[in-house]
Amino acid sequence: MRPTNLNPLFAPVAALPGVGEKIAQHFKRLLAQGGEDARVLDVLFHLPHAAVDRRARPKIADAQPDQVVTIEAMVAEHRPPPPRSRAPYKVLIEDETGDLLLVFFLSNHQWIEKMLPLGARRWVSGKLELWEGYRQMVHPERVLDEASLKKLPPVEPVYGLTEGLYQRNIQRAVEGAIARLPDLPEWLDPAFARERRLPSFKEALEASHRLSTPQDVDPSAPHRQRLAYDELLAGQLALAMVRGRVKKVGGRASVGDGRLTRKILAALPYSLTGAQEEALREIRADLSSEHRMLRLVQGDVGSGKTIVALLAMAHAVEAGRQAALMAPTEILARQHFERLQPLCETAGIRLALLTGRDKASERKATLAALASGACDIVVGTHALFQESVAFNDLGLAVVDEQHRFGVHQRLALGEKGDAADVLVMTATPIPRTLVLTYFGDMDVSSLREKPAGRSPIDTRAIPVERIDEVIQGLGRAIGSGARVYWVCPLVEENEDLDLAAAEERAELLRQFFGDQVGLVHGKMKGRDKDAAMAAFQRGETKILVATTVIEVGVDVPEATIMAIEHAERFGLAQLHQLRGRVGRGAAKSTCLLLYKTPLGEVARSRIEIMRETEDGFRIAEEDLRLRGEGEVLGARQSGMPGFRLAVIEKHGELLAAARDDARLILARDPDLSSERGQALRVLLHLFGKDAAVRLLRAG
Ligand code: ADP
Ligand code: MG
Repeated sequence: MRPTNLNPLFAPVAALPGVGEKIAQHFKRLLAQGGEDARVLDVLFHLPHAAVDRRARPKIADAQPDQVVTIEAMVAEHRPPPPRSRAPYKVLIEDETGDLLLVFFLSNHQWIEKMLPLGARRWVSGKLELWEGYRQMVHPERVLDEASLKKLPPVEPVYGLTEGLYQRNIQRAVEGAIARLPDLPEWLDPAFARERRLPSFKEALEASHRLSTPQDVDPSAPHRQRLAYDELLAGQLALAMVRGRVKKVGGRASVGDGRLTRKILAALPYSLTGAQEEALREIRADLSSEHRMLRLVQGDVGSGKTIVALLAMAHAVEAGRQAALMAPTEILARQHFERLQPLCETAGIRLALLTGRDKASERKATLAALASGACDIVVGTHALFQESVAFNDLGLAVVDEQHRFGVHQRLALGEKGDAADVLVMTATPIPRTLVLTYFGDMDVSSLREKPAGRSPIDTRAIPVERIDEVIQGLGRAIGSGARVYWVCPLVEENEDLDLAAAEERAELLRQFFGDQVGLVHGKMKGRDKDAAMAAFQRGETKILVATTVIEVGVDVPEATIMAIEHAERFGLAQLHQLRGRVGRGAAKSTCLLLYKTPLGEVARSRIEIMRETEDGFRIAEEDLRLRGEGEVLGARQSGMPGFRLAVIEKHGELLAAARDDARLILARDPDLSSERGQALRVLLHLFGKDAAVRLLRAG
C-alpha cells in the first residue's frame, strides 16, 4: 500500500491548475511511463535543462546585443505590413534613452495590437540585436504589463517540450505541483546528507525548479545531486532486494533433449546467425543448470530476438515444463502469436494467446489449459500477471521489450512458476557500463550481428545549402517508386516557428512534387494525422514531411529514403531510431542527414558515427561518450531507458555510493522496518519500485 501522504503526487496531471484534457494528453506524451497517464510526480521530475537569466534590466541605450534583456518602454508606433505582404509587423518602443523595434514575422496582428497598445507602458524580454544600425528584437519572448511582470521569474527554467506544449504550460503545472509537495520523512543517512550538503527531497525539488541563478540547473548543484542520489538509491535498493529474493528461491534444472528445437530449426527458411547461436548456447546452459537464470538478451530492432525466445521456450517444453512470452502491447502479443503459431504447429507445441481482450469463454479455456498443462507456451500481455492465471509448471518466463516494464514486473512473472527462469529481451542496446546499473547482476547476451540479406543503409551528410541537389535526387527516386520521410525537428521555445518551418518545407517540396507531398505534425487532429499516414502508406503521397519523431506503429516497408533536416539537433540514439524506419524491405535504403553549417564539434562527431556504423551497440556507447557535452535536448530524447533525475555520466560517483548504501541498509534492516526503513519504503514508492516493497512481505 502506498503511504497516503503520497497520494497528491500520484494524482493525474489533470488535477493541476491550468492542465485541461488536451494539455494532459501532451504531458502524457512527454512524460508518461509505459503508456499510463502522466502524474503530478512526473511533472516534478521533469527538471529544467537550461535557464534564461532575465535579471538584466538596462535602459534601451545601454542594452547589449545578443544578451537576454528585459526592457521597460512605451509603445510609440505600430508599423503593420502592407496587406497581403509577407513582411514583418513592426512595433517601435522607446524610453528616455532611445528606441527599439519589435519585429514579428507571420504573426497574429490582433494579438500584437492587444498586447502592445499605443502609448502603453510595457516590458519586453528577449535578445536584442543590431540590424543595419537599428536596435531590434525579433519575436520578444515575453511581452508583459505591470501585473504579469510581477510573475516573471528572474531566472526562468527551460524545460524539454513536446509538440503542443509550451514553456508556460510546464512552468504553471510545476508551480501547482510544488504546492502539493508534502513534507516527507528523511530517508538519507543524516551524516551523509550533512557531509555532502544535500537539502531535503522537498527543498531539492523546489530549488531545482525555482531558480535563483542559471547555475541552478547544473547537475552538480547540491539539490540536483540530492535528487539524483534518491533515484539511484531507490534503484539500487530495489535491485538488491530482487537479487536477494532470487538467490533465496534458487533454481531448478530444465534439461531439454533437442527434439522440438530440431523440428523448429528444420522448418525455418533461414539458418541462425552466429550471434543467435551463441545466445542460445548461453541460454540453454543456464536453463539446464541448477541456478536460476536471470538473463538479458539485447539486440537492435530486427536482430532476430523472437526466434531466440521461441527456441529457448522450446527447450523448457522439452524438459516437460511450460513457458510464457510477455509483450508490452496487445498488438505485439498478437504479432508474436501469429508468427510463432506455424512453427509451434510443426513441432507439435501447444501454443495459446492470452490478452485483456479475449472473450470470456476463450479465456476460461486458455486458463484451464495452462493450469492443467494442456498448453505448453502462452503468449500474452501483462494480462499474464493476473492472479487468475496459474500454470501447471512454468519453467521459463520471457519478457519482450523489457524497458517498458519495471524490475518488479519482470520478477512477478517469474513468481508464477516454481523457480522459473527469466529471460528479458530489449531492443535498446545499452552500453556495457550501464547494464549493471539498470539490470543489476543479470547475465547478458548480445545480438550484434544482423541476419543476412539486409542491405546496409547508405547514410550521407549534406549541408542544407545543397537542398536543391537533394530535391532533384528525390525527384529521380520517387520517379522510380521510392517513398520518402522528411523529418523537421522540433526546436524549443517557439513551436509556431517550428510548425511554420515544416509547413514551409512541405510548401517548397510541393512546388516540385505537387500533391505527392503529405504533412503530419503534432498539432493535427488524430483523424487528420491518421489520414495523412494512411495516404503515405498506400502510396498516394510519396513524400511525408513530419515535424517530430514519426509516431510509433508506422511501418511502411516501401519507404526507402529518410531525410532528416537539422540532423545536428538530434541525439545519436534518436538519429539511429529514425534511420531504422527505412531499410525494412529488400530495396536499398538511403538516409540523408541535412545539417546546418557550421557544425559544432559534438554534432560533427555524431554525424560521423552515423555514417560509419549501423551497429546500435556502438552507437549507444558513443552516445554515452558524447552526451553531457551539451546539445542534448533533454533526457527523454536520448532513447535510454531508466533515469529521469540522474545523469549517469555526471553522477557516476553517486551511483557507487548508492550501491554501497543499499547493501548496508539491507544488511542492517532487511525488512526495512526501522524508522529509516519506513522512510526508505516511501522512497521506493516515489520511484515506482513499490513491487520491491511487496517482495518484503512475500518474504
Ligand atoms: P527483433 O529482434 O526486432 O525482435 P525479429 O525477431 O522480429 O527481430 O526478427 C526480424 C525478422 O528477421 C523476422 O522477419 C525474422 O523472421 C527474421 N530473422 C530472424 N532471424 C533470422 C536469420 N537468422 N536469418 C534471416 N532472417 C532472420
Ligand atoms: Mg521483437
